[in-house]
Parts: sequence; C-alpha cells; structure tokens
Amino acid sequence: MKTALITGGAGFIGCHLCRFLLEKGYRIICVDNFLTGDRANIEGFKSNPNFKLIVHDISLPLELKEDVDYVLHFASPASPVDYAQLPIQTLKVGALGTHNALGIARSKKAVFMLASTSEVYGDPKVHPQPESYWGNVNAIGPRGVYDEAKRYAEALTVAYHRVHNTDAKIARIFNTYGPQMRKKDGRAVPNFITQALANRPITVYGDGSQTRSFCYISDMIEGIYKLMLSDVNEPVNIGNPDEFTILDLAEKIIELTGSKSRIVFRPLPADDPKTRCPDISRAKQLLKWEPEVGVDEGLKKTIEWFSS
Ligand code: NAD
Ligand code: UDP
Repeated sequence: MKTALITGGAGFIGCHLCRFLLEKGYRIICVDNFLTGDRANIEGFKSNPNFKLIVHDISLPLELKEDVDYVLHFASPASPVDYAQLPIQTLKVGALGTHNALGIARSKKAVFMLASTSEVYGDPKVHPQPESYWGNVNAIGPRGVYDEAKRYAEALTVAYHRVHNTDAKIARIFNTYGPQMRKKDGRAVPNFITQALANRPITVYGDGSQTRSFCYISDMIEGIYKLMLSDVNEPVNIGNPDEFTILDLAEKIIELTGSKSRIVFRPLPADDPKTRCPDISRAKQLLKWEPEVGVDEGLKKTIEWFSS
C-alpha cells in the first residue's frame, strides 16, 4: 500500500484528492492547520483506518517517522479574498511550507508535487497561456503575496529536482470549482451560486468582460493523478480551456438556478487578470489528459451541492 501525504488535505481540492486516493487504495496522511480549510470536508474519512490527520502548520518543520511515497503540497490560501486577508501566511506557506514539504519528500525519497497556479502568469500578455510563458506579475500588488509565493515555490521545486534529484512535479492549476468549496471563500463560483440561491444581487466586479476558464473538480483530480504517476518533471497546465466572461458566468448561474437575482456591478479589484485560459497541449500530449465535464453539467452538480 502506497502512502500519500497531502498538505492542505482539508481544503477544497485537498479533500477531493484525499477521497480519490483513498478509493484507489492509498494510505493518506493529511496535514492541515484549518487556516482556510473546513473540518467537515474530512469528517467522513476519520473512521477510515487508512486516513490519518495531523493538525500542523506546514510552514513549521514536521518530522515523520513513517514512510511516505508521495508528498502532495496543496496547503495555501487560494481565494483572492483569503490571500488578501492572510498575506504573510500565504507567503510563508509558499516559501517555508514548500521547503518543509520538499524536505520530507527528499528524506523519504518520495515523489513531490507542488500545487502551483495560473497566477504565476499574472495578468497575462500571451493568450492562451502555454507553460513557456514567463508571466506578467506585479510583485508588490495585492495578488503579489500569492503569485510570488507560488513562483518562488516553483523555483525551489525545480532546484530540489536539479540538486537533490527529487522526482518533483509542478501542476499549474487553473480556476477550479465544485462541491466542498467554502460558501464564503469569496471566489466567483461560490459567490454567484449562494447569491443566486438566495435571490440576492449577483456581484459582478468591473464590467464583467474579464474572462476565466473553469475546470470541474473531478477533471482536475484526474489530471493531478495522471501527473503524479507520470515521469514528467516540467510544469504542466491543468485546467479547462472553455473560456467565457464573468458576466456570462453570472447569467448562466441565474439561468441554471432559476433565480430572480439581478446583476449589480462592483469595482474591479486591483490587478484582476483581464483574460485567463490554459493552453493544455502539454497535458494532452504527455499525460493523455483533457477535461470531460462541460460547464453546464459541472455547475448543475455544484448548485445541487450548495442548495443541500
Ligand atoms: P483551500 O483554501 O480550500 O484549501 C487550502 C488548504 O490548505 C486549507 O485546508 C487550509 O487550511 C490549508 N492550509 C493553508 N495554509 C496552511 C499551512 N500553513 N499549514 C497547513 N495547512 C494549511 O484552497 P483550494 O482551492 O483547495 O486550493 C488548494 C491548492 O491548489 C492551493 O495550493 C492553491 O494555491 C492551488 N490552486 C487552487 C486553485 C483553485 O481554483 N481552487 C487554482 C490554482 C491553484
Ligand atoms: N468576481 C466577480 N464577483 C465576485 C467574485 C469574483 O466578478 O463576487 C470576478 C473576479 O473579479 C475575477 C473573476 O470573477 O475577475 C474570478 O474570480 P475568482 O475570485 O473566482 O478567481 P481568480 O480567477 O480571480 O483567482
């Protein structure tokens, strides 16, 4: 039986990864300090003898006696609202947390994976974004704490691969949504769905012409799993290239929920990327992966979860 240590395992993506790997027969060690995670996300695993929770801040060193085959480093605030409220914790978990997680992988001779992000491309000047694009990031802007932490984390991950031969993977994750997102994490999908279900105004920032490409969680987990088992050490974009405007997203959610909500426009946050869409040629070619769940189907499942 293989053991996977998942930092941030009580968060949105982390808890889906825990469930998926438990079902595949892995033993899971979840390391989380519940900074932005939710205990309810892992409640169902606690009776499983193959699941172990360590409540710990991974920005501090962690000594483990047991063997570990995979270290999947997913701990980090991820919503722009969260990382604006937690700037120093965000920088620390990207820098010190990644260092500690890499240290565990090195000492256990485990495969390492960094949950990186499309935010390493910043407000991109190349569209769609291939992995070869270096990005356009404002280091001292409000998103800099997250973007630069992840860029440093990528640099450290590559250094461990080059210097210590750590089998290190970098998943550049694009906007992902689905059940188990925190209702109040401030991201567009949970905001719009909770507003629509309550028939409250839908808050579109700016004029809503900025674009995103949203990937349903089950597709994301499949992509992460394929990367984890692969021999690929270069960064790989994982996301859904179906791109639309945020205004389109708001209208779609109103339609799918049958809501009476109206759309209201609020100021656009500073440095909010104007466009974002992954070029997933590398994932298609090297991982034989591409998303399968369309936005209507994914949103319906997410709305169902939020309404229960
Ligand atoms: P989330 O906030 O739901 O989960 C993050 C988890 O990490 C939480 O359980 C939180 O308590 C934990 N955590 C944070 N700091 C910690 C620390 N110092 N020590 C231990 N645990 C800590 O976020 P998410 O959406 O599930 O994102 C997970 C990862 O994926 C993050 O690294 C994020 O940067 C990356 N990512 C997510 C998206 C997305 O659309 N969801 C997009 C790009 C990248
Ligand atoms: N957004 C919005 N209204 C909201 C929340 C977000 O218009 O209530 C916009 C936000 O400004 C951004 C897009 O939706 O342009 C996606 O935001 P999210 O926070 O989901 O993720 P991001 O892609 O910015 O990391």
